[in-house]
Amino acid sequence: MDERVWSPAVELADPSQEREVISARLPEQLAYVEATSPFYRALWAAAGVDVHDIRTVADLARLPFTEKDELRRSQDAAPPLGGTQGQSLDRITRIQCTGGTTGVPMRMGFTRADLAWLDDVAARAIRCAGGVPGDLVLECMNYSMYVGGVTDHMGFEHAGLCVLPYGTGNSLRLLELVQAMATPWLLYSTPAYALRLAQVAREHGLEPRALRLAKGIFSGEGGLQVPGFRDLIEETWGCSAQDVYGLSETGVMAAECQHRTGLHLITQGHFVTELIDPTAGAVVPCEDGATGELVFTNLGREASYLVRYRSHDLVQLHAAPCPCGRTGLRFSMIGRGDDMFIVRGVNVFPLGVQDVLYGLRPLVTGEFIIVLDAAPPIDYEPRVVVETAAEPSSELAERVAEAIRLRLNFSPAVELVPAESLPRAERKSQRLFRAYLGDAP
Ligand SMILES: [Zn+2]
Repeated sequence: MDERVWSPAVELADPSQEREVISARLPEQLAYVEATSPFYRALWAAAGVDVHDIRTVADLARLPFTEKDELRRSQDAAPPLGGTQGQSLDRITRIQCTGGTTGVPMRMGFTRADLAWLDDVAARAIRCAGGVPGDLVLECMNYSMYVGGVTDHMGFEHAGLCVLPYGTGNSLRLLELVQAMATPWLLYSTPAYALRLAQVAREHGLEPRALRLAKGIFSGEGGLQVPGFRDLIEETWGCSAQDVYGLSETGVMAAECQHRTGLHLITQGHFVTELIDPTAGAVVPCEDGATGELVFTNLGREASYLVRYRSHDLVQLHAAPCPCGRTGLRFSMIGRGDDMFIVRGVNVFPLGVQDVLYGLRPLVTGEFIIVLDAAPPIDYEPRVVVETAAEPSSELAERVAEAIRLRLNFSPAVELVPAESLPRAERKSQRLFRAYLGDAP
């Protein structure tokens, strides 16, 4: 694989050019995967498919999907990286783990070429989201074994920005640092952390708008597309707030441009993306307004590659041209798969609840948690604990419950608690608690 040549860090503006790249790279990548992966060889043999017959994106539908649990089990059977390791350890230069609020971590290996690719895509996303050389980034992600801290840091450097690797925790010291530096700065964190940081500032007599935060780029959890949530961050800090989307297993995949017309998928040349019906598994045509789950296939990765990997993230596609000129797929998040639960046959995402609650501000603060007390099937009313800025009353609880029922088609048991009583996230906000698994707020 040494002779493998990588494309320069450009976005492909012309869709036909992207098709050419895919038709050249896809068969080559699948042949490489077949030659190096006991996991995929077994999966494809069991499905009775000869992978050499797969030449186009449409052909991909003949291959089975890949689920995270299967990859994780493969690592248990063949540590350290399982049947998708792809390269010997002397070629692998970094291992990181996938996070998420549920589940056991999965290990991902990267060769030098894989890391170059990861940096390339992250840099495109950062530029798309408005980050430019000259911006001073305070990165407040978790610098640890998990993807997101170090990987995104490298993306900022690759995009030519100046990054200060702050990490998570000790918010007061961070505020002292930005005061001492006395220059406009860019915050890279989860969106919930932006609000948490403002809260800490005010507790110490500092007005967030005086702290010169110019830009916010946010990732790691949904929510920024809930209009009131973004507005609150921008009003609090006097900054812009842009959304970036990615998965631990894939890295950064999409970002909003300044026009905020949804998330631009910026992985051209590195991934094939399919949209599927999450229940039937059938491919959904990529048309305006289509909804479905994103499925990803690597086009050039050497280690820990993915073929038809199910994201379990539900999106809606937008086809109208964006004024920025980007032509790739563009989408809005409907919900992150890890957080979905089903109440009497209705799919519920915490993001939907957040949207309803932000519409009820200022009666409620917008902070909430959902607690599932008993295992599925959920044929009971899940508890939705909501912070209220007003005096808690049964009338207000009923009003909140009614708003959720009307918009999301399920009946919650709403409990009101005083403002500031729910924990604020330093890292990812956890909105959903499966108490029946011992997961308690
Ligand atoms: Zn755009």
